[in-house]
Amino acid sequence: MKSSFTYVVIGLGGLGSAAAYWLSRRAGKDVLGIEQFELGHVRGESEDHSRIIRKTYHTVPYVRFAEEAYRAWAVLEEESGEQVVVKTGEINFWPPATTLREDDYNRSMAACGVPFEILDNVQLRRRFPEFRFGDDIHGVYQPDGGLAGAIRANAAHRRMAQQNGAALIDNMPVSSIKQTAGGYEIVAGGRTFSAEKLVIAAGPWTNRMLAHFGFELPLRVTHEQVTYFASPNLGEFTPDRFPVWIWMILDNYYGFPVYGAEGVKAGKDRFSPIDPDKRSFEPDVQNETDVRRFVAEHIPRAFGPVLYSKTCLLTHTVDGDFVLDRIPGHPNCVCAVGATHAFKFASLFGRTLTELLVYGKATTNIHAFRFDRPTLALAKSDWEIGGSARAELAHIRPKRVHCGDKDMR
Ligand SMILES: Cc1cc2nc3c(=O)[nH]c(=O)nc-3n(C[C@H](O)[C@H](O)[C@H](O)COP(=O)(O)OP(=O)(O)OC[C@H]3O[C@@H](n4cnc5c(N)ncnc54)[C@H](O)[C@@H]3O)c2cc1C
Repeated sequence: MKSSFTYVVIGLGGLGSAAAYWLSRRAGKDVLGIEQFELGHVRGESEDHSRIIRKTYHTVPYVRFAEEAYRAWAVLEEESGEQVVVKTGEINFWPPATTLREDDYNRSMAACGVPFEILDNVQLRRRFPEFRFGDDIHGVYQPDGGLAGAIRANAAHRRMAQQNGAALIDNMPVSSIKQTAGGYEIVAGGRTFSAEKLVIAAGPWTNRMLAHFGFELPLRVTHEQVTYFASPNLGEFTPDRFPVWIWMILDNYYGFPVYGAEGVKAGKDRFSPIDPDKRSFEPDVQNETDVRRFVAEHIPRAFGPVLYSKTCLLTHTVDGDFVLDRIPGHPNCVCAVGATHAFKFASLFGRTLTELLVYGKATTNIHAFRFDRPTLALAKSDWEIGGSARAELAHIRPKRVHCGDKDMR
């Protein structure tokens, strides 16, 4: 294999696989993707059957970005011949106790011409009889919401990148990055590669890579999990009959129809801080119990024995917004951080990273995702306050609310 490439992508999870694909459409065999574990491994953030894709966002730029995300996925689907986005419709339940601001969501969708319906309690019961909820709940339905088939999409991105001539290598952890006259020298698994331009898409390990540039972002990595249920009524929960759903509270519950697995999937955020290299794969009993109770109470016909709970990592930024930008002082090196809700945008991230490297600017509005935005600079000192990691994490929540009341799915 050659050792000199125009583009090198570090990390082949959801975002890096997309970057390898979009770069390969332009540069084919001049693209190298490097992954520290095996391709498709489950130690990062991106490898489960489904992730929610939705246009229900709290600002106009996010709604527009989400609309563009569907277009990016459509290119992958067209070229790979494989469907990766399944529109099931999305129902968001709005409990009165939420700190999220529903008006922000509805106004932003309205401004972008995204259709949605506000359903009062009676309409909600009539339209979604699978759910049980109190008299104080209402809902917002958006028909384009659904799921992105994550495992399938990642594999399609990588397969198409390889088909376009890109080289993807795995079990090769990048241990050093040095700037050279012509770009970068990268050492991975004992081999040395050179690149003119670089993508860093290292998810929970981002700061390890940024250290080679003298940077550290205020990121936190947490341990999460989802649970699959063997419903006795699975036929009622297929994607054509059952929508993706979100309970619109911070630390929320959310769920999916049957897709790719033998059961219905639901989850609840844990936000349990963790070192990505010292994690366990043991499910958290309390979280699984909470999700079991929630499904039994609110979606009783979906409830059944737990098939399994699957753990994964999640990378947070302090303001909940992505990082999708060049590294300051390095016009030929771009970095992507998913900030807990990026899978739906994965292909668009890949396209945007490619635009930044090839044309020097993005065709979408990524202003909020700047590497050097003030919230990240200010947050750095805030996040360093506190004793235990949990206490530090508790600090995130008011900050998130302060920074725009956004949900995290
Ligand atoms: C439980 C859960 C539910 C979620 N739900 C949703 C949802 O419904 N909708 C949504 O849009 N998003 C959701 N997300 C978030 C979304 O999955 C992530 O934002 C996204 O997958 C992040 O992808 P990534 O490529 O940044 O990270 P990863 O997939 O972790 O990829 C990073 C890769 O970089 C590799 N790497 C790191 N360091 C090195 C190195 N030194 N050398 C080589 N390779 C390296 C890693 O091994 C890894 O493969 C959810 C996440 C979780 C955990």
